[in-house]
Formats: sequence, C-alpha cells, structure tokens
Amino acid sequence: MEVRDVYQLLAEELRKKPTSSKGHAVLLLMAEDKIKALDSGRDEALAYERATLMAHFVDAKSRTTQSPARWLPANTLEKYLEDRMDELSSRLRAAGLTSRPVIRTDNALGGAGKQRTYWLDVEPLPAEELEDSETPELGTQIRYQRSPAGEVKPSWLFRQIFNQGELKNRSHRGYWLLACITLTMAVLAFWVLLGLFGASRSSSGITLGQLLNITLVAGGAWMIWTQLCQPWIQLVDHRVVKAPLLTIHWTEQSAELEMHRDNEGNQWTRFVRFTADCPICSGRVMLMSGKPEHRLPLVGRCVESPYSHVFSFDRALLDGGYIGPGKG
Ligand SMILES: [Zn+2]
Repeated sequence: MEVRDVYQLLAEELRKKPTSSKGHAVLLLMAEDKIKALDSGRDEALAYERATLMAHFVDAKSRTTQSPARWLPANTLEKYLEDRMDELSSRLRAAGLTSRPVIRTDNALGGAGKQRTYWLDVEPLPAEELEDSETPELGTQIRYQRSPAGEVKPSWLFRQIFNQGELKNRSHRGYWLLACITLTMAVLAFWVLLGLFGASRSSSGITLGQLLNITLVAGGAWMIWTQLCQPWIQLVDHRVVKAPLLTIHWTEQSAELEMHRDNEGNQWTRFVRFTADCPICSGRVMLMSGKPEHRLPLVGRCVESPYSHVFSFDRALLDGGYIGPGKG
C-alpha cells in the first residue's frame, strides 16, 4: 500500500537519525500511530490537539504549568519535516513512491474553545529538481562563433600553402603539405637517431660539450615535433587543434586549425578562431588546452578567469556547457 509505505519510510528515516527535538518526537509518534491505524483498516485523518501531543511527552505535573501552544509553537512540525524533505524525497523516489508526507493543520489560532489540531497526510511528490547546486544556474550554456574564412592570417610559409586560410586536403597543395610533414618527421627521426648514435659511439664518457649537444638536439627535436608534426596528426582525430605558433602570422595571438568536410564530401583544412562571450563575466572565451586540470584536449577558457570560467566545446553544435575548475 503506497500510503503506508510513505509513512513507513518517514518513520524509518526519523528512527535512523534521532534528535532531541520536539518535532522529531512528535512526527515519529504521528507516523507510528498512522501505520498502526492503517494496519487495522482505518484510514481517516488522525488529528491531534497540541495538548494531546504534549501529554505524550510531558509528565502530569509539568502539564499544569505549561501551555501547549508554547510547548509546540506554530510551524515547528512543518519546519522539521521540511528540513528533512530533500533526503526523504530521494529515499521515496528510490523506493518508487510518488507521494510524500505532509503536515496538515486546521489553522485555528487556538484559544479557549478551539484548539489547533495537526494530522499527517500525503501529497504528490514533486518532479525531481535538477540537483548540482554547485554550478551556477545562470550562465551554464555558451555559444561559440567561428571566424569567417580568411580572417585568421597564417604565417608567411603557410600562406604559400593555404589559399585564404583554406586548403583542400586532396589537392596538389594538400599533398605537398603532407609530403613536407612526412619529410620533416623523417629528418627529425634521422636527426635524433644520429644524435643517439653519436652519443653512444664515444667510449670515454660524456663530455660537457656532448651533453650540451644532446640537450640541443632533444630540445630542437621536441620543438619541431610539437610545432610541425604533432598538431597535424592530432588534427585528423580531433578535427580542431590549437594552431602552432609557427603556422600563424605574428600578429595573431590565438587561432585554431580545423578539418571539415564540404557538401561534396571533400576534406578541407582551414585556419579559424572559435570565440564566445563568457556568460558569467562577459569576458572573451577562447579555446585553449584542457591541460592540466581537465581531460578534454580543448576547452573554452575565459580570458578574465581562465581557470574558473571553463567551458566544454562541441565543434559540431558550436556550443558548450560550464565545466568549471577541474577537481584534480
Ligand atoms: Zn568569465
């Protein structure tokens, strides 16, 4: 029986967290009475006067000196139940119930003739609210804008390959770029191997000069790899990567490389810039690396607060949501 289950859960929840508050004691009494009544087939409202409730908890001598209205001030029970409603609601939902307990009162203000009475009832459980109060309700969504073709200026070298910042992958220039990247990678590998070979050939320990040489080779190789090779490889999988500094004009501070498909199914590579307005502080949001605190390769970071106002980035929908500071 749904209603009995609701009271049963309320009683269990109260027994699980005992407190010395009157609200706790009275609610538990009412819930237990209600369950007993339902078990014996009575389901009419069990109304209690405050004096009756007080009589359950206060000995006969104190009863003569205390006023029931002062013993149980208005809203004590309602407040106590409300404070526990979040937890109770999630337990009720977990149990598949659709009602929650509620305190009803006849709202008589007391007085000589008429005493205010209370009874337990059920009401429909409201739909689950969106939780996660940590993220601000406002400003969680963000719209990105893609810069028009030709706005981002490539560096001199890449202007020779990219026409208006765009390049059809399967074209003469596209193949030429692919050949250049492959050649760079081959030269790089050869260079590193040569460096290692040179270091291993020397028998009489490593001199300072050689150590300097190895450091230079390693540093240079790493730079060439991150600037000229790695981005192109990642571009195939990620569709958008940060454009390496060597590829963009020196006046450009930040830009992206994007691989996209036109209506005829041809793949293109282009220089673009994705920007958005920060919904929190209206600063400018730019795409930056998700490292070190996010696992996404690219995230939108607000220039005013790059580690707090962080947003996800969806290339296809050009939108994103607030992901906030990373949690380590
Ligand atoms: Zn911001």
